[in-house]
Amino acid sequence: MQMPDPDQTILARREEIANHLRTIVPGEGVVVSPQELRVYESDGLTAYRQPPLLAILPETAQQVSEILAYCHAEGIKVVPRGSGTSLSGGALPLADGILLCMGKFNRVLDVDYDNRCVVVQPGVTNLGITKAVEQDSFYYAPDPSSQIACSIGGNVAENAGGVHCLKYGLTTNNLLGIEMVLIDGSILRFGGKHLDSPGYDLLGLMTGSEGLLGVVTEVTVRILPKPETARALLLGFPSSEQAGDCVAAIISEGIIPGGMEMMDKPAIEAAEAFVQAGYPLDVEALLIVELDGPQAEVDHLIGRVSEISGNCGAQTSRTSQNEEERQLFWAGRKAAFPAIGRLSPDYYCMDGTIPRNKLPHVLRRMREMSTDYGLRVANVFHAGDGNLHPLIMYDANNPGELERAEDFGSDILRLCVEVGGVLTGEHGVGVEKRDLMSEMFTEIDLKQQLRVKCAFDSKALLNPGKVFPELHRCAELGRMHIHKGKLPFPDIPRF
Ligand SMILES: Cc1cc2nc3c(=O)[nH]c(=O)nc-3n(C[C@H](O)[C@H](O)[C@H](O)COP(=O)(O)OP(=O)(O)OC[C@H]3O[C@@H](n4cnc5c(N)ncnc54)[C@H](O)[C@@H]3O)c2cc1C
Repeated sequence: MQMPDPDQTILARREEIANHLRTIVPGEGVVVSPQELRVYESDGLTAYRQPPLLAILPETAQQVSEILAYCHAEGIKVVPRGSGTSLSGGALPLADGILLCMGKFNRVLDVDYDNRCVVVQPGVTNLGITKAVEQDSFYYAPDPSSQIACSIGGNVAENAGGVHCLKYGLTTNNLLGIEMVLIDGSILRFGGKHLDSPGYDLLGLMTGSEGLLGVVTEVTVRILPKPETARALLLGFPSSEQAGDCVAAIISEGIIPGGMEMMDKPAIEAAEAFVQAGYPLDVEALLIVELDGPQAEVDHLIGRVSEISGNCGAQTSRTSQNEEERQLFWAGRKAAFPAIGRLSPDYYCMDGTIPRNKLPHVLRRMREMSTDYGLRVANVFHAGDGNLHPLIMYDANNPGELERAEDFGSDILRLCVEVGGVLTGEHGVGVEKRDLMSEMFTEIDLKQQLRVKCAFDSKALLNPGKVFPELHRCAELGRMHIHKGKLPFPDIPRF
């Protein structure tokens, strides 16, 4: 994985840049000491590390605007960061870029039950939104497993998903409005408290833009009343194929569960050893199916899903009898990533999406690849959405093993594209999948996407080196004005 070469002139100006930024964010808001910068050197993709030029922690949109306007004028790169849980290296710093940390934007600004929405600052955690409204029996539906830590600003930037997104939609389906600061310092608003707004859907464009188009400084999301009841089924199968068939059968019956997750044997064993969720250990695949809604409807659907799973060959079936047990069923799934951390010194979490009916084929191919690469793999899936999370186990202390894990991961993602799927379900492209973008998009597609980037950030200062395999000069895409034959910003790196 190669990043753009650092600009030596920027590195040489570090102290001067820090001094100027202190005039915008006074006190301890500018971090320069190497010891303190170490905590920012990576995000959830810990295989890659790079301390930033400096880190800055603004508290107001006005300060963000002044920081970006200064960086724009001086040609300084900026990497936005929420809680740093990205698994695709989206918040990986650059040696010659400032890390713009949004952690101090941590206030809930408005709880509006009349409009069923909440306005928060972007550093509020995903779970913090539900915490702000749960006493009134409301909640925020998208629930990434990292929800205790990840920020809503990061969720917007990655279009985060989670267990409940099968029924309730991803971040983009629950987002009503944002305030965003562009690289030139202008502060814009997209959307508001209502579902639609006039003009192009720029809110949709910004959702999932991975910090490349602007910095989110305020977020308005939809909240939902908590369902009257929710119960979960634990279904064990003798093969992943049968579990996959069961997922397809449930959906084709017109049942949309609140959540439908699958784990394979290595993931089941790891999660059970970690949280003792009561998972059966004599099965090859486990499905957790949650039904939510009015009591009578849930009771009926539990019966229907039990029947369908029996027809698909389920060898064990348990239904949660109370809220505590339902939470326990989920605890194992939500702790699956850290649980794998107990089996192997390092693991690499992939994220690809496939058509649901290709699951047995993809699992079979993955098992073959695991043998070929000599690396173990455990699988957890958002089964209803076809979103896979293979966890490749490796030991970074063994020379060449990280590279082998990366190659294995790339082959899995290529396979996802080959069977008609996509490179990412919810973790974003970042640096992790950047070089695979051309597996999925043609040169024309990529140039078109770059034109959008150029429209918002023609100097390529916001999060460069992420998402796009190659940074074209905006001039090449016909977006930049060339005055008297002189190309502006000739220093934009290509790598
Ligand atoms: C154990 C674990 C489990 C996870 N499970 C899930 C899951 O179930 N579903 C899921 O979708 N993800 C999951 N993730 C990935 C991660 O939590 C999400 O991608 C999350 O949305 C990142 O939020 P963050 O605040 O940590 O963002 P960061 O990691 O700080 O940044 C992520 C990206 O967003 C940009 N960004 C951050 N804040 C802003 C802002 N205010 N304005 C503009 N750009 C910004 C950054 O530049 C970067 O490109 C998991 C991660 C871990 C470690």
